[in-house]
Amino acid sequence: MKPKVAFFDFSSCEGCQLQIANLEEEILDLISIVDVVSFREVMKEHSDNYEIAFIEGSIMRPMDVTRLRNIRENAKILVALGACATIGGINKIRNQWPADEVKKEVYGDADIKDNRYFDAFQTKAIDEVVKVDYYIHGCPINRDEFKHVVTSLALGKEPIIPNYPVCVECKKNENICMFEKGEFCLGPITGAGCGAICPTHRSACDGCRGIISKPEVECVMDILKRYDLTYEELKSKSKLYNYSREANK
Ligand code: SF4
Ligand code: SF4
Repeated sequence: MKPKVAFFDFSSCEGCQLQIANLEEEILDLISIVDVVSFREVMKEHSDNYEIAFIEGSIMRPMDVTRLRNIRENAKILVALGACATIGGINKIRNQWPADEVKKEVYGDADIKDNRYFDAFQTKAIDEVVKVDYYIHGCPINRDEFKHVVTSLALGKEPIIPNYPVCVECKKNENICMFEKGEFCLGPITGAGCGAICPTHRSACDGCRGIISKPEVECVMDILKRYDLTYEELKSKSKLYNYSREANK
């Protein structure tokens, strides 16, 4: 029996699901080991009979909480898919300000009676609302990592998600360090698994896979010192995805 799999989206650009839809021929390998019963982006059919739920997006409204809890009840295994789901992602930038202030900025004097008004609260990652079994990090996700997770779960194995820094993959790729080029790179504190795709293409890491659980703080401080940078600059650079993988647990 193939496990039944469903995909769901909350507040997000749906780019992670698009990564899956773009697997093209490789999707045939995946549907030979799992049965996709719901995937709004690519099919009309829908069923609430599934074992594995993949969730993209952040939780931002009371109605999201109810829907997510229902999905959790239906699923044996729940996987957070992409930065918005795993760490809150770019959607969490607005948490720097109180929710009422953000709503005032967006809606002005409109209120809940206005049908264009969303009664949003501060952005939450999925595991701030329900238990998450596995995480596929990134903005967007890495397709190879997605295939690895699906294959592992279909075979009843534990997927391996790296918890070491992007620098490890970057060094394997023999890249010249972005700090040497005058760029501020978050590779030393960000979780690997993307193949260090950004520095490999001459762009500093913005930390989309979240901060690893035990960053080498002394090494990071050494890097800041060596390149005459400050902790304040590190915090400022981290604002785009400044969320630890452990923060919500
Ligand atoms: S470019 Fe970034 S990821 Fe690569 S070694 Fe330097 S700091 Fe680490
Ligand atoms: S290098 Fe950094 S920003 Fe780029 S995909 Fe990897 S974790 Fe995300």
